[in-house]
Amino acid sequence: MPKTIVFADRLDRKFELTAEPGEYIHSTLVRNHIPIDAVVVRRDGVVVDDWQERIYPDAEYRIEMVRAYHLPDFLSLTRLWDTQLASGSWQTRGDAYYTKRHFMHSAEGDYDSTQVAFNRDEYVQYVEQLFVDGVHSKGLITPGEKVLLAVSGGKDSLALGYFLSRTAPRLPEFDLQTVHVTTFSKPLDTSFAESMAKQFGHPLTLVHDDEVQEFYNLAVPPKQALSDVKYKYDASYSIASVHSMMRCSIERTARRMGIEKIAFGLMREDVCTSIIKSMFVGFPFGGSYSKRQGPIEMVYPLWPIGKKELTLYLEALFPTNNKQGSPVAFERGELARDIHYMIVDTLETILPGAGFQLFEGHQRLVDNYLKLPTQKECENCQMTFSVGAGASAEDNTVCELCVVFDKLGLLK
Ligand SMILES: [Zn+2]
Repeated sequence: MPKTIVFADRLDRKFELTAEPGEYIHSTLVRNHIPIDAVVVRRDGVVVDDWQERIYPDAEYRIEMVRAYHLPDFLSLTRLWDTQLASGSWQTRGDAYYTKRHFMHSAEGDYDSTQVAFNRDEYVQYVEQLFVDGVHSKGLITPGEKVLLAVSGGKDSLALGYFLSRTAPRLPEFDLQTVHVTTFSKPLDTSFAESMAKQFGHPLTLVHDDEVQEFYNLAVPPKQALSDVKYKYDASYSIASVHSMMRCSIERTARRMGIEKIAFGLMREDVCTSIIKSMFVGFPFGGSYSKRQGPIEMVYPLWPIGKKELTLYLEALFPTNNKQGSPVAFERGELARDIHYMIVDTLETILPGAGFQLFEGHQRLVDNYLKLPTQKECENCQMTFSVGAGASAEDNTVCELCVVFDKLGLLK
C-alpha cells in the first residue's frame, strides 16, 4: 500500500507525498521534482542516505529542505505539483489543442507566469505568426536577397517549407533556392525532398557522391571514407564527420550559386542545446538566431518554435502526412547529446520560456563579451572552420576532418 511521507519546507509548512514501500527514496524525490541536493531525509528522526535507502513500510519519513526557497510554491505554479497553492483564474477550454505557457522575467524584475490555450485552427495561426515575428524581430531575411534552404527530407524541413510558403505574403520578399545532399540521405528522404520542392515551387539542387568526393579531393567515395573514419579512426567521430561533410557541401554549393545566406531548420531545442553544450565544453556558439560562417550568414528561422510545436503544427495541417521514419544509424549520436537535450527539455518543463531567455542572454554575451573563435577557410575542402582552443590560427591550415582524412591516407 502506498505510504504518506511528509515534506517540510523552511517555513515549516507541511505537504504530503506518496511513496511506495520498497522504492528508493531518491525515486520518490525525483518523481516529485524535488532536487536531491535541496533536502535531507529522516527516518524516524534520524538522517538517512536518500540515495541508498529504500522506503521501509513501517517507518516514518520526513523530507526537510536545506535551503529556504519556495520550492512547493514554484512546483505548484508550474503544475509539477497539483496543490491548492496556485489556483487562480487560469484559462481552461474544452476545445484546447495546445496551451502555450511562459514563465518569464517581468518588467519588475521577477518572474511572471502566463498561459494561453488555442484550439486547432487558432494554433496554426498562432505558430505561423510566431514564425513570421521570429523572422522580422531578428532581421533574418533582407528584402530581395537570395536564401539557400538546406533540406534533409525530414519533418523539420517539411515544416519549414510549409511555413515559408504559407506565410510568404507576411515575410520580406526573397528568392528561395533549396539544396539536398543525397550522400547522407536515404533514397526515401531524397525523393521526399524532390516532391517537396515541386509542391512548394522551390528550385532544388541535389549534391551527389561524386561532388562531395570532389569537394574533399577524396581518393575514395565519401561513404567509403566515412566508414574508414568509423572503423579505422574513431567510431564516436563519425557523426561529427557527417555533419562536417554536410556543412561543407552546402557551403560550397551556396558559394557556387552566389548565395550568401543559408537557412537551417534548427529549432528552439536545437539552439538551446548548442548553447548549453557550448557552456559545458567552453567553446562559444556563434549566435542564438544566426551566425557568420566566413562569407556566409547562417540563419535559423525556426528558432522560436519547439519540436513538439512543430509536430503539432504538421499534425494540425495534415494528420496523415506526419510520419517520421526511424533514424538511420549515423544519426544516433553519443550519450552527451542525449544529456544536453534532456537538460534543455527539463529546463523548459520546470521553466516554460527558459529557452527564449537563454537565447537573449546568450546573444548579449556574443554581442558584447564573448571572443568568438578565429575562422579560416580549409585549404583542402574550402569549408569555413573555427580554429579550436589551444591552437593558434596559424597552426591550422585544414579543418579537423581533413586532418583525419589525411591521416587515414584518403586524400588524393
Ligand atoms: Zn577541410
